[in-house]
Amino acid sequence: MTRLILATRNAGKITELRAILADAGLPHELVGTDAYPEIPDVKETGVTFAENALLKAHALAQATGLPAVADDSGLCVDVLGGAPGIFSARWAGRHGDDQANLDLLLAQLSDIAEEHRGAHFACAAALALPDGTERVVEGQLSGVLRHAPAGTNGFGYDPILQPNGESRTCAELTPAEKNAISHRGKAFRALVPVVRELLG
Ligand code: IMP
Repeated sequence: MTRLILATRNAGKITELRAILADAGLPHELVGTDAYPEIPDVKETGVTFAENALLKAHALAQATGLPAVADDSGLCVDVLGGAPGIFSARWAGRHGDDQANLDLLLAQLSDIAEEHRGAHFACAAALALPDGTERVVEGQLSGVLRHAPAGTNGFGYDPILQPNGESRTCAELTPAEKNAISHRGKAFRALVPVVRELLG
């Protein structure tokens, strides 16, 4: 069985990709970077989600000698020309301060009318092999931004993105409902034929 490594320490992400590979009948064993604690985190120096996902996947494939998957994601707001985009995690300055990021974005959009509040979550997922072979796929979840947060599930900007066709925000969906339509779910499912092609 081929071992495949996913560039994350997030158990939820590992479970999600593991389930997608298993549902597709792929026998690969998926592990996270916790299995290799000596490997340093990679600096995300790219300017697109795809570049960052590829950077992380290549670094991990080189460090472990295993086929490696990495993803990068964020929120892209139409009226902001796609920002926060790759800056989503540090929009308010400090990496990973979800509440400050969300508050700042809501303030920036406070006088933007309903019809101009379109946005999408985007995710790029890359697969890199130790020999340098690479593939990258993408997924999106489109919707509109609420004026105030609602819901307690999820993380990041989930409380303000209402997916198209939904009356609830992402933070009001169950994790299973969110995974079924999410940008990351779509990108991970798009990896299935790529894994099949490159790893058999
Ligand atoms: P990363 O791909 O884990 O680095 O995500 C970057 C940032 O994008 C996160 O810190 C969140 O602010 C935002 N983000 C990415 N995916 C989601 C999502 O599914 N819901 C809410 N926020 C997200």
